[in-house]
Amino acid sequence: MVRAKVLLVEDDPVQASATKEALTKVGYEVLWAEDGIHAIKAVKTERPDIILLDVILPGMDGYEVCRWLKLEETTKGIPVVMLTVRKELSDKISGLHIGADDYLPKPYNELELNARIYALLRTKALQDELRLKNSQLEELLHKVNYMAITDALTGLFNRRHFHDVLMSEYERTRRYNTPFSLVMLDIDHFKRINDTFGHSVGDSVLREVAEILRHSIRDIDTASRYGGEEFMIILPSTGKDHALTVAERMRLMIAQNAFSRVDRNITVSIGIAGMPDEKADSDEKLIRCADFALYRAKDQGRNRTITAEAAELEYAAE
Ligand code: GH3
Ligand code: MG
Ligand code: MG
Ligand code: MG
Repeated sequence: MVRAKVLLVEDDPVQASATKEALTKVGYEVLWAEDGIHAIKAVKTERPDIILLDVILPGMDGYEVCRWLKLEETTKGIPVVMLTVRKELSDKISGLHIGADDYLPKPYNELELNARIYALLRTKALQDELRLKNSQLEELLHKVNYMAITDALTGLFNRRHFHDVLMSEYERTRRYNTPFSLVMLDIDHFKRINDTFGHSVGDSVLREVAEILRHSIRDIDTASRYGGEEFMIILPSTGKDHALTVAERMRLMIAQNAFSRVDRNITVSIGIAGMPDEKADSDEKLIRCADFALYRAKDQGRNRTITAEAAELEYAAE
């Protein structure tokens, strides 16, 4: 059994030793400080569970000591009982006003003192427990939130989160007229990978592609797994020319990557759409523009990047 540690701050040695004896008898470990400065030092070094604080002390008085303790993050959780001979109501109020947890007028009897200490320690234990539970709950909530927006296989954002981000980027573009780009990427002949090496190798390819994407983007960009072997990257404040550069860099990195469980190169096809674009009068339409560009990239032989405008021009020329 660990004994609760009581710090008694009392300048009168006779009173101090009587209280110390009484509390030791009922099982507390009692430390004694004879003035405010020593009290604050003892709180820092000894970490008492509760403080009994005389109001009238030489130098720094009890109120001031209490104010210090309650101001500081590391000591403010320790319950403080103010002890004083003065019985006026105003004293009681000023004691509690500065953050004291309880107030006991002198002369106090042992039973009453014990009851106060017991009640405060119990409350403190409950609060500590509650604080722990709260932090565990917060952690859990954090985990649940993370799971709700993350693709389990790749660790990228999932399709739902992609739609949320796209919608808010689209709204932002509408309001402030800032550009943004949408890069849609699809692995070429992925079915063959699965057929040749098996589904679990296919999975590891998806993870490695995701890893390359994650490392090719800025903090403000959003890379997500849109479907089986399709990925979407949202590039805020990025015009189409720059998006094309980024996409080509990704494409080449994937094409040149030595995949860990596959003895051949893997390529991707990419379609880019972006705002502003008169044709894209909704976020869904913007996805269709990117999809159309991607379809053209596949049609032209794969392993290439096509923008929505280029796709439109070609389509019109045909
Ligand atoms: P294309 O170049 O035209 O895109 O051809 P493809 O084979 O990549 O396209 P297709 O849509 O025909 O095939 C996609 C394959 O991706 C089919 C499906 O079994 C596979 N796939 C989808 N999700 C997963 C997954 O989570 N893991 C694995 N290993 N395969 C997946
Ligand atoms: Mg005193
Ligand atoms: Mg596909
Ligand atoms: Mg594919």
